[in-house]
Amino acid sequence: MPRCMICGNTESFGSSKLEPVAPTANSIPTALLANFDNEGYIDNMENMGAQLDEAQEAWEEPEVYFDFCAFCGAKEIQWP
Ligand SMILES: [Zn+2]
Repeated sequence: MPRCMICGNTESFGSSKLEPVAPTANSIPTALLANFDNEGYIDNMENMGAQLDEAQEAWEEPEVYFDFCAFCGAKEIQWP
């Protein structure tokens, strides 16, 4: 599973490739967040403005899309 090298988060990651269409309440700079399960697979995604085809691609290639930690914002993400 992906892991943030800074805070150790392995659950929630955002994609800086998919920019938000409008500022969100939680101010995380992405249109798409993914929550990973214990096995490293995407459990669910929070779509905050991403197109469906973009979300589909991100689902299929998470290591390409999800590139920052949703908890601390670091981009030092380690993939297995
Ligand atoms: Zn982090």
